[in-house]
Amino acid sequence: MPALLRAGGRYRLYFRYKGRLSDTFTGFYKVSYNDSHNETRWLASTTFEPNEAHRAFPCFDEPEFKARYQVNLANRQDMVALSNMPRRSVQNMTGVQGWVWNRFDETPPMSTYLVAFFVGFLDSRGTQTANGTPFRVWARPEVMAQTQYALEIGPRIIDFFSSLLEVPEPLPKHDVIALPHFIAGALENWGLISFGERNLLHEAGVSPESRRQQVAHILAHELAHSWFGNMVTARWWKEIWLSEGFATYFSALGANHVDPTWDTLSVTSVTALLRVFSVDSLQSSHSLTFPIDHQTELRQIFDDVTYYKGRHVDILNFY
Ligand SMILES: [Zn+2]
Repeated sequence: MPALLRAGGRYRLYFRYKGRLSDTFTGFYKVSYNDSHNETRWLASTTFEPNEAHRAFPCFDEPEFKARYQVNLANRQDMVALSNMPRRSVQNMTGVQGWVWNRFDETPPMSTYLVAFFVGFLDSRGTQTANGTPFRVWARPEVMAQTQYALEIGPRIIDFFSSLLEVPEPLPKHDVIALPHFIAGALENWGLISFGERNLLHEAGVSPESRRQQVAHILAHELAHSWFGNMVTARWWKEIWLSEGFATYFSALGANHVDPTWDTLSVTSVTALLRVFSVDSLQSSHSLTFPIDHQTELRQIFDDVTYYKGRHVDILNFY
């Protein structure tokens, strides 16, 4: 029966929506790679930041509109399905042989760009933080030996930030996944952080020492986003230096905690400053708070000024 909506009433909208798995490494995308037996493997993953979530599900794709998400994924039962929150249940799919429904717990309120899901063939190793929160590293079976370093330092960095900031990380699990093909260095999807393999994996005795420091920095940067960006979020992208600048600064604090002999704070203070000088001296530079209105311009804001000029919050004697 059609009826009039009442002003001031609260309504719940239900609708069907069909998205497409993209081939562009953005939105909800699919990608193939060859495994160690030269067999083609497929995975599906998400890259929503800054504004690609609406290609996967209908939403107001702006950071200030936060919502709780309850994700269900249907997939072949020999594949792994992951999302921001722990899996609540898995059930055989009625009428479809060999497929299952994975249902995940509801998320805390979060911006659309932090929502994530993954389906594919990865293995994992797990440990936990000081307060017992599970921390798992996922990678292709053939590179699992290279996950040990991230597994060791991830929980240490979370514990360090939690005690330094006196705010515990609120999510009930942390997954970090190494993807064989990835469009960015890493993405801070809350509870399901994704990395290109080279930014998460390290093999003792094989990888150069510089790779160890790179993994520590990038992992610490993405974990710092829990506090800067995920829990507390800029209303709109023009103020994104508030999360990227702080996350970049805290990546140095996290790396310094992992191994003080690197003298990370001194080194990155200089390298970041020199990096800013070279881009900020150009006519094309911009202020930290950068007016940006059109959705197609959003990617421009993720540049060295935002990350490295923003990073010089340490000049404000924050720490
Ligand atoms: Zn970041």
